Amino acid sequence: MKLIKNAQNKLETECPFCGRHGVHAWHHCFGSSDKKHSETYGAIIYPCTFCHTWDSKSIHKDPNQVKNKYLKEHFQQLIMEDQNWTAEEFAKVFRKSYL
Ligand SMILES: [Zn+2]
Ligand SMILES: [Zn+2]
Repeated sequence: MKLIKNAQNKLETECPFCGRHGVHAWHHCFGSSDKKHSETYGAIIYPCTFCHTWDSKSIHKDPNQVKNKYLKEHFQQLIMEDQNWTAEEFAKVFRKSYL
């Protein structure tokens, strides 16, 4: 998964988790008040609805948050590389470090 800047809310692509092809809605890897930052810095993915919200192990439903935690770590690393930031600098924008 890579950074996607200037993302649209839907994209025809393959789900990064299961490979299912279709028109998938975006997911902001950093949610709530960080949604805008996710868009600005490119922390956007396009999972299928199954992996996004339907399945018990989906990003939004899994009580153990396996996918959610993975995405936050992965995209924090990508953004830090892209912006040439330390974890502290990341946390100034995204409120905390997930590493
Ligand atoms: Zn999927
Ligand atoms: Zn989502």
